[in-house]
Amino acid sequence: MTIDASLVQERRLVTAIPGPKSIEALKRRSEATSAGLGIAIPVMIERAHDAILQDIDGNCIIDLGSGIGVTNVGNSAARVVDRVIEQVQAFTHTCFTVAPYLGYIEVCEALNRITPGDFPKKSLLVNSGAEAVENAVKIARHYTKRPAVVVFEHAYHGRTNLTMALTAKNLPYKEGFGPFANEVYRMPLPYPFRWHGNPATITQDSLTEIALKIEKEIGAHNVAAILIEPILGEGGFIVPPRGFLPGLARYARENGIVFIADEVQSGFARTGDLFAVEDEEVVPDLITMAKGIAGGLPLAAVTGRAEIMDSVHAGGLGGTYGGNPVACAAALGAIETIEQDDLVARARHIGAVISTSLQELAGTYDIVGEVRGRGAMQAIEFVLPGTKEPNAAAVQAVVQHCQSNGVLVLTAGTYNNVIRLLPPLVITDALLADALSVLRDAVASASS
Ligand SMILES: *Cc1c(COP(=O)(O)O)cnc(C)c1O
Repeated sequence: MTIDASLVQERRLVTAIPGPKSIEALKRRSEATSAGLGIAIPVMIERAHDAILQDIDGNCIIDLGSGIGVTNVGNSAARVVDRVIEQVQAFTHTCFTVAPYLGYIEVCEALNRITPGDFPKKSLLVNSGAEAVENAVKIARHYTKRPAVVVFEHAYHGRTNLTMALTAKNLPYKEGFGPFANEVYRMPLPYPFRWHGNPATITQDSLTEIALKIEKEIGAHNVAAILIEPILGEGGFIVPPRGFLPGLARYARENGIVFIADEVQSGFARTGDLFAVEDEEVVPDLITMAKGIAGGLPLAAVTGRAEIMDSVHAGGLGGTYGGNPVACAAALGAIETIEQDDLVARARHIGAVISTSLQELAGTYDIVGEVRGRGAMQAIEFVLPGTKEPNAAAVQAVVQHCQSNGVLVLTAGTYNNVIRLLPPLVITDALLADALSVLRDAVASASS
């Protein structure tokens, strides 16, 4: 069997969005699927390749979201597809903790090699980002024999019970789903655009405040882990000020606290480094990964210091599907693609193109409060003109304009006032330029 994976990398609209077939299909969606599931764009996808999504009406939409930062290597990337087909024909499942296989080990070897830190590392594979975060916390507590976990304002770590507790935002993630896990303590996050204090001393002031709060409210000796996204994802692509992450890592080290970087969204070449912490040479004790790890198949991981990862008794970690062989094959294909096609460099190039274009918007339209991000993880925060008041209505207008014109963009932000761009790292220059021109028109029309 041969599969034609090619799909012309061009935006093409043949109906309105949504088209008639999508409208019909969306009725079935409402009837069959839980009302608790939202959707970002009202179309039904039939196929996708690299940065183009084709819907059942034949519209070809430019994907600036990558399924939330997942298809970094492109949708149905060749090396992922080849390895998955080979694996699915060989075997589909044994459960690694029942009858192990080499694919799982090869993914762990790769993660131990590519993650920051030149000390011995070990890895654990699971199914989702939330499960990776849960396991990192379990391991840190087991290793330190301490209960408390320190997290931050604007954080997102998942939707399971523990990770809801770790997540900052109530609606839509937590509302009505409590009670939540205890021993979770939230610290202020230095959010440069909205910092209340002196911008010149934001890093030192926030580190001092956090150390004081930890000492007074928890006691550093009770803290198992400090957990942070190096660039906050759902919170609105907030980039902490320079020096903050290194300072936090230093504080953790001095107090015997496990420093966990949640790289679920920022990892796998997204920011122009393999992992976002590399930008300031921060070396976490544990890293959680998912999303971009396997080109679209469900896989997640915790990688970190061998002495921490090995502190758990045999049988203490695991799960039926964790490190499924098909997902592992996909991960090996994705990691090979990132390395052989130098997608780190590609992310830097995409980042430069996007930020040049967005900075132009910031200089032209007063609803653009700030443009920020790193590499191919860039965002626009919208405000009411002349203020820093969040402008969620502008975001809705921009999203609507983009969708009607065949460009998929995602939103984010505690105040629902951020548009975030997470294009596949294989997007062509021509396609990216086309998408950015649609986005420019959308911001122009939202500001008039
Ligand atoms: C998406 C995300 C998660 C949760 O991952 P799931 O696979 O959806 O469970 C955790 N942390 C961060 C930073 C994320 O962006």
